[in-house]
Amino acid sequence: MNITNVMYIVAAILFIVGLKQLGSPATARNGNRMSSMAMLIAVLATVVGNDIMSWEWIIGGAIVGAAIGAFSARKVAMTEMPQLVAIFNGFGGAASAVIAAGELVRLIDNGADIAEDVSITIMASVIVGGVTLTGSFIAYGKLQGVVPTRPLLLPIRNVINVALLIGMIASTVWLVVDPSMTAFFIAGGIALALGILVVIPIGGADMPVVIALLNSYSGIAGAATGFVLGNNMLIIAGSLVGASGLILTRIMTKAMNRSLANVMLGGFGVEDGAAGSGEEETRPVTSIQPDDAATMLAYAQSVIFVPGYGLAVAQAQHQVRELADLLKEKGISVRYAIHPVAGRMPGHMNVLLAEANVPYDELKDLDEINGEFQRTDVAVVIGANDVTNPSARTDTSSPIYGMPILNVDQAQSVIMMKRGMSSGFAGVQNEMFFLDKTQMLFGDAKDSVEKITSEVKDL
Ligand code: NDP
Repeated sequence: MNITNVMYIVAAILFIVGLKQLGSPATARNGNRMSSMAMLIAVLATVVGNDIMSWEWIIGGAIVGAAIGAFSARKVAMTEMPQLVAIFNGFGGAASAVIAAGELVRLIDNGADIAEDVSITIMASVIVGGVTLTGSFIAYGKLQGVVPTRPLLLPIRNVINVALLIGMIASTVWLVVDPSMTAFFIAGGIALALGILVVIPIGGADMPVVIALLNSYSGIAGAATGFVLGNNMLIIAGSLVGASGLILTRIMTKAMNRSLANVMLGGFGVEDGAAGSGEEETRPVTSIQPDDAATMLAYAQSVIFVPGYGLAVAQAQHQVRELADLLKEKGISVRYAIHPVAGRMPGHMNVLLAEANVPYDELKDLDEINGEFQRTDVAVVIGANDVTNPSARTDTSSPIYGMPILNVDQAQSVIMMKRGMSSGFAGVQNEMFFLDKTQMLFGDAKDSVEKITSEVKDL
């Protein structure tokens, strides 16, 4: 066994242990460090152990890549992290496709007799990588708000998709029978178009599933490229990403109460133009000031905080923990209700609250906490919207119909912190705002929580 393979085994073990550690907030930081270390070992083993290309190119590429990675990770605001992850997924898929394409060019140029399994694997990598690239950029656009989050439904989209699928299979068969760059370009072009057409009809509320699935695709494309190059490390790393992405997809479909087919067919529960129709809301709501909210909280026995995307925007996690500590000192029971799709990326709320050192045992997931709301005096919704919307239970035309929500409406009273009356990511109005038990506290969440805290201190 040569030194490269030994290093690959070490890297594979570190990847697996690192992934396992990412499963708990207590060990996640260490898991991240281990996986980064594994990647460094894998890259070093590959470039040192193989005579790939000149060192100038390798070092130049590494410097440019590391500089872009470090700059974007440092500069990108925490709220834009999901978009960054979407772009990284897309580039991962593109890198695999380009490497596989390079191998095809090399084989054709050398006039080599390309075995069927090699050409099929090259096409798998190019197709999955191409779909991942454009699909991820549409996901990025939806998260960034440059592409409408509502489902965009083309009139005969299913016919177009089936035609593209047939074209892709036909060009793959062509390449296997008679290896040519024309067949390759047709399949690659179709894959790029398919990535756009598959993701664009998917509504904002279903984006967690799409992001998890594209993450998995980027791994599958990497594993396929590993087979093309005969590189064990790439096969292992790609398979780990592919498998963990699929598990995450399963978790997200369960959280949304959807089947995968249901999400991928798109436009679920939405008449064309129904979501985000922009109708002016005229129903009255009850609003309160921070001092009223402070009184409600200080005299409660039990409080549940419900964080959502607005908590990330306001960066109010430290202030929320300070308020929670104060309430606990007064003997009030405090817990946090975490919806699996709250925020804009899987685990978003856990990451934010862990950053503020909120004790893990106070974070309760949907199944654990939903039965507790009716025994709770005050539910404080901090920048969450879709994940609390009761119309998900009853309104069959809603894009979030069927999604399990946090039973905030069952608490004795509800404080909803947000800046105005705007809807959540799914673009639908929240019926919670109009319930008699709901008090709207308008303003930036960080500002509101700070004011409540200073009032509670005086009570
Ligand atoms: P939503 O996006 O539904 O709502 C967030 C709310 O926060 C908005 O209504 C906004 O109202 C409020 N808000 C924004 N900024 C502030 C601020 N500074 N202070 C106070 N409030 C603020 O969030 P949820 O977490 O409830 O739901 C997540 C949504 O995102 C779901 O639809 C989910 O499917 C989707 N999604 C989730 C992903 C994931 O992996 N978790 C990935 C992609 C999409 P206002 O502007 O009035 O203040």
